[in-house]
Amino acid sequence: MKILFASAEVVPFAKVGGLADVAGSLPLALAERGHDVRVIMPKYLSVTQGDWPLWRAVPGCPVPMPGWTSGCALDESRLPGSEVPVYFVEHHDYFSRPGVYGPPGGAYEDNLERLSFFCRAILAVLTPLNWQPEVIHLNDWHTSLLAVYLEGGAPATVFTVHNLGPAYQGTFPAEKLPVTGLQADYPCTQAFVRGGQLNLAAAGLCCADMVNTVSPTYAKEIADPAFSGDLAPLVRRRGKEVWGILNGLDYEVWNPATDRALAANFSADDLSGKAVCKAALQREAGLEERPDVPLVGLVTRLDAQKGLDLVAAALPQLRDLQIVVLGTGAPDLEAVFAAAARQRPEVAAWLTFDERLARRIYAGCDLFLMPSRYEPCGLGQMIAMRYGTLPIVRATGGLADSVTERGKRGQKQNGFVFSEYSVKALLAAIHRACDLYRRRPQRWAQIVSNAMHTDFTWDRSAAAYERLYQAAVQKVR
Ligand code: ADP
Repeated sequence: MKILFASAEVVPFAKVGGLADVAGSLPLALAERGHDVRVIMPKYLSVTQGDWPLWRAVPGCPVPMPGWTSGCALDESRLPGSEVPVYFVEHHDYFSRPGVYGPPGGAYEDNLERLSFFCRAILAVLTPLNWQPEVIHLNDWHTSLLAVYLEGGAPATVFTVHNLGPAYQGTFPAEKLPVTGLQADYPCTQAFVRGGQLNLAAAGLCCADMVNTVSPTYAKEIADPAFSGDLAPLVRRRGKEVWGILNGLDYEVWNPATDRALAANFSADDLSGKAVCKAALQREAGLEERPDVPLVGLVTRLDAQKGLDLVAAALPQLRDLQIVVLGTGAPDLEAVFAAAARQRPEVAAWLTFDERLARRIYAGCDLFLMPSRYEPCGLGQMIAMRYGTLPIVRATGGLADSVTERGKRGQKQNGFVFSEYSVKALLAAIHRACDLYRRRPQRWAQIVSNAMHTDFTWDRSAAAYERLYQAAVQKVR
């Protein structure tokens, strides 16, 4: 099939969260299965500044905007280590900026305009590229307007929900509708103008030919207003057209045996390098170098979604273990971890975004904490397992689908799980994990081996995406 994968962020060119990891790895898995898959994203400053080859694919192309004509150029590169083309939509005013969605912790004022432009530019460049996809894969609200622009016609559209929390629905004042070029009386427009606001996630949910989200459990959860607010009825209305497909990991990008950010490499067969990584991380974090003390890591956006209020409340009761935190985001959460790091010799915090340090944390820790309030899929827990670090997670969304404490459906224990969103339940899970670490080293080693052998490769999920694309294409035939 010919598939165009449209995303506002793609590893390694620009990354804010897990969407970028998915956009940089699912297309590779699809290409390996024989599809002509290409990726398209905006050309941010980070794209220009990276050390990958870039060449012009389309020197200039008019982009029809509401009542006027703008223009763009298209650069091209490849996903690293592959022949998968990546196109970069160039527009200096909209995209030559340091941030993807805004300055740290904020959003650009003109996000609706710049992302509408991105969607229109995607349609405009297909002709000069002389390439027509059968399906365009849209990811989150940033690209959902394409489903409206293409409604009912070819190419087919698949809309993937990576996050449907209230802060991730792409809402704008309804007066801004003209920016999108859509008329208020157009039926699809009515579906996403809600309560005086434009809701771009609703546009994708209503107008895309097929919809999915990034884990089976989250696909069920988003039918409940507790997870998706006012959008729950839209999800329910789509019924069986909303699929849940668990994200995979790129096993080459995330590989402790070859990862060059680590003090030592290791694998499931030989974990000696992991002990070296732990000691190195303890030194780097200014913690006491103690192999016997469980080292617990967090690598996360500091966001209410991630359950960090529980961690903040539990911190004073966490003794006899070491904690390292890497994250940026909400100033109040940054302040909590900064204060804990100042006051407690066993806590270290880096309030920054650092991909190489993230790798050293995944590799050097014994335990990885993800007590999310909700979690569409979550990649952190999968990366941790790949690096032999056992996740402690709350049973929600993709965390429930990837981590098991009691073993289920032929899967062996690969982490620690709690259900109730409470400090008590979190503390109990941490204590269970730390007890096991201290008292039962053989059982611990077995669970680490189970975790490292749990299969999170893209292969199975890529096959499911194939079926989803076929279902979408059937609908526009
Ligand atoms: P989300 O997409 O909600 O942020 P995921 O767990 O799906 O959560 O993906 C988060 C990704 O971002 C992981 O690859 C994680 O390692 C990375 N990440 C998050 N915060 C940081 C940070 N401060 N520094 C480096 N990488 C980070």
